[in-house]
Amino acid sequence: MAPRVIVLGRQGAGKGTQCARLVAEHGIIHVSTGDMLRAAVAAGTELGQQAEAIMNSGGLVSDEIMNGIVAERLAEADIMENGVLLDGFPRTTGQAETLEQILADQGVELTATINIDVPLEEVTSRMMARGREDDTAEAIATRLQNYEDSTAPLLDFYAKRNKLVVVNGLGEEDEVFARVQGALAL
Ligand code: AMP
Repeated sequence: MAPRVIVLGRQGAGKGTQCARLVAEHGIIHVSTGDMLRAAVAAGTELGQQAEAIMNSGGLVSDEIMNGIVAERLAEADIMENGVLLDGFPRTTGQAETLEQILADQGVELTATINIDVPLEEVTSRMMARGREDDTAEAIATRLQNYEDSTAPLLDFYAKRNKLVVVNGLGEEDEVFARVQGALAL
């Protein structure tokens, strides 16, 4: 069956980079909800208008909106055929529960959740260095706090389901990718 993989990790842990490597290696479809929202903002859609201020302040877009976007995307043919790498979703327990339901309705199983683990101090300095427009010091702090409050509980959620693998995200990109590959065994 086509793989369904969730990538967790603090913002700045290297999720995007590692996802790109997995896509290149396995032909799996990368779904980044952050990228989807940024595209909606750039296109000026209704979704983009709703999301922009929330994103700029480092807050979380509502579960209701996010669940709808992801449910639609996961039903598309390319994902049914090639599988999906979810990056940035789920971010809350409500989203994780919805995802579980979507996959059950599709008759498919979650392959694994991978946590790219990088300590808080390290991701803070990485994010300050990357200089993205929404990376103000305040927004970074809010996002990292959101992660600890809303997303870190998902580690437990997936560990309880025997679906969690943890990878040390410190070191060279190639080194981390080798660990990711070893942990996932796709
Ligand atoms: P990211 O590129 O994953 O860091 O996402 C950028 C921003 O988009 C986040 O700081 C949130 O404001 C919003 N966002 C992305 N994915 C989600 C999600 N699953 N739930 C809520 N907000 C999200």
